[in-house]
Amino acid sequence: MHNKKPILAFDFDDTLVDVTRNFLDFCKKNKKGVVNYEEIKTDIASLLKITEEKELELWDEFFESKEYLSITPTPQQLETLTKIKEKYDPIILTSRDNRFRQSLIKWVKKHLAGYFSEIIFCADFPEEKRTKGAICSELKVQMLIDDESKNVLSCLDYNIPVIIYDCPWNRKLDKKIQRVKSLKEIEKLLIC
Ligand SMILES: [Mg+2]
Repeated sequence: MHNKKPILAFDFDDTLVDVTRNFLDFCKKNKKGVVNYEEIKTDIASLLKITEEKELELWDEFFESKEYLSITPTPQQLETLTKIKEKYDPIILTSRDNRFRQSLIKWVKKHLAGYFSEIIFCADFPEEKRTKGAICSELKVQMLIDDESKNVLSCLDYNIPVIIYDCPWNRKLDKKIQRVKSLKEIEKLLIC
């Protein structure tokens, strides 16, 4: 159930949680390959010189690992999310594949229980309506915070305000879009 506060949608992977960086550490530690985070522009499989299916299998291993479940929000991040919750109705809106759905729910239950009113999976929407912009419009989301350029651009199509979470793969996007590098910066922008 939503309260009357404006809905603020957070992407999960690489916006709320530093998933890719931790995945690369996991790959390095388990001798699956070394990729420099800053070099990621599109897919990781080509940088690891493996097939996409093999990459999915590595993500399976990672999401089942103790390393993944041990990623922990900092006290500063929790403080920010508490402040955001006072003014907004924060939800998680993720395009994470169904294959990895349970690992996301498990992580949120362990580390962010009570901070978000809902976890919404784009995969649950009909395929023709599955862009984040379309979903945000349907849910009457006030603003989306996301790291994927295509998600940010889809919000612009629906006039949904958007903040881009800075990552190496989105730095070519139009500089006029508000960009942040931390949750703290979001707090400064949204809470006066
Ligand atoms: Mg993301």
